[in-house]
Amino acid sequence: MAEKTAPHNQQQLHVFFFPFMSPGHQIPMLDMARLVATRGVKTTIVTTPCNFSRFQSFIDRDRQSGNVDINVHILKFPSDTAGLPQNCENLDSLPSRLLSNSFSRAVMMLQPQGDDLVCQYRPDAIISDLNIPWTAQIAKKYDIPRIVFHGTCCFSLCVTDSVSKYKPYEGVSNDWMPFLVPGLPDRVHITTSEMPGRFFRNLGLQEFFIQFVEAERNTYGVVANSVYEIEPEYVEHYKKISGKKIWTVGPVSLCNEKDVDMAERGNKASIDKDHCLAWLDSKEPNSVIYISFGSLCAFAESQLVEIGLGLEASNCSFIWVIKDGFGDGLAIQDLEERVKGRGLVIRGWAPQLLILNHLAVGGFMTHCGWNSVLEALSSGVPMITWPLFGEQFYNANFVLKQLKIGFGIGVDTGLKWGEEEQAGALVKRSRVAAVVSRLMGGSESVKEMRERANRISKPARSAMSEGGSSHGNFDLLIEDLLALKQERLAKGE
Ligand code: UDP
Repeated sequence: MAEKTAPHNQQQLHVFFFPFMSPGHQIPMLDMARLVATRGVKTTIVTTPCNFSRFQSFIDRDRQSGNVDINVHILKFPSDTAGLPQNCENLDSLPSRLLSNSFSRAVMMLQPQGDDLVCQYRPDAIISDLNIPWTAQIAKKYDIPRIVFHGTCCFSLCVTDSVSKYKPYEGVSNDWMPFLVPGLPDRVHITTSEMPGRFFRNLGLQEFFIQFVEAERNTYGVVANSVYEIEPEYVEHYKKISGKKIWTVGPVSLCNEKDVDMAERGNKASIDKDHCLAWLDSKEPNSVIYISFGSLCAFAESQLVEIGLGLEASNCSFIWVIKDGFGDGLAIQDLEERVKGRGLVIRGWAPQLLILNHLAVGGFMTHCGWNSVLEALSSGVPMITWPLFGEQFYNANFVLKQLKIGFGIGVDTGLKWGEEEQAGALVKRSRVAAVVSRLMGGSESVKEMRERANRISKPARSAMSEGGSSHGNFDLLIEDLLALKQERLAKGE
């Protein structure tokens, strides 16, 4: 099903974007597509109906601005065939994590539609999420370069590579015993309980992980939503170990300059942006802690109650995001009443960028999804790290040990994907209160941490401006793809 497509000029580069249907992957890739489009490149985003409805307003606004050639192609998502409920087209709308395998199968079933599209439009390059491995086969079939997007930082990619290559966990006596990860630019220690693979073991996703790795073989380069200056050794190290070109082009979130773009990014916010801004305006600088665990977290009600009571006991002002369908019990409703004025609870989707960019926000309790970490870094906000699963423990390690701009909540093991609610309350209210009070208090060490966070935000923000590293990398990426196009044209393809 084709949406509007502008006529294609032979000299213009045409890039297809295949974002994976999960907010943490889709959101940055859309920003990336919009940024590439502002450089005169024809861009086409390949998506599905429900996902398009989440970002259509952006595309409409970009098109109305008149100077971008940004297009959308919509594929029919095979929910029925894969055994998923209707309109369940994004990982965050699965009624149960145990359906993750069916979701991945549905994504794999999109291949024939993707193939037809590429055959018809013959783009000059594909930028694909790692989780859509069949784009590698299509790229090979039509002899076009495939660039992969992993959605995380180079530090985490390097740790993952070293752990898989050297297997340093072998011979460690228990899951909580730290071991050194060899072959990295720094001395990095992790534990077996922090390794990403174990969180998904129960879901039969191994067959897909194998395909992701296979697809990397037929991949021309890597595009990362990261900033060279915040992890130069790891960008270089990743280049060396992958043997691929890598372009760090972040933080892509900074392309959202207007309040309306920040408020609607990723989904329609469940709070009126002006109300949210007015609430923040009424607070002192650095006095509010923002608490969000990303788009996929499914805490047990008992854990939410402990978080709420901990926030209440901390006496700090806070904005707390609770995902739709969670935290509906009386204990949290009563708490909301008690902390009225000091605590704002957002149920559903929060305008995260707008919040993190506000001067009143002085701390972020986060699950350490890479987007959230990078958004906090660019706003100069120190963090309380509470990783849950996936590579979030590695990202937390980066925040605490490499950048030194946060405190850990103290979890030493992740939650099993799909079994989060059974885990109960692993972190008690007293710990929540103590760590929040520590970060939001005025101790000398926290002042230094704030200064460090502020210093780090400067290169992160300037990377995207003219003369900055990410700005330049976008140019280099486009030049590279144009040169490949010219080669193909010269060969008469
Ligand atoms: N996000 C948001 N509002 C929410 C929850 C998430 O805007 O209520 C955005 C957040 O700014 C980030 C993305 O969704 O860009 C989540 O990605 P991340 O890598 O932090 O975590 P994930 O959701 O993938 O675990």
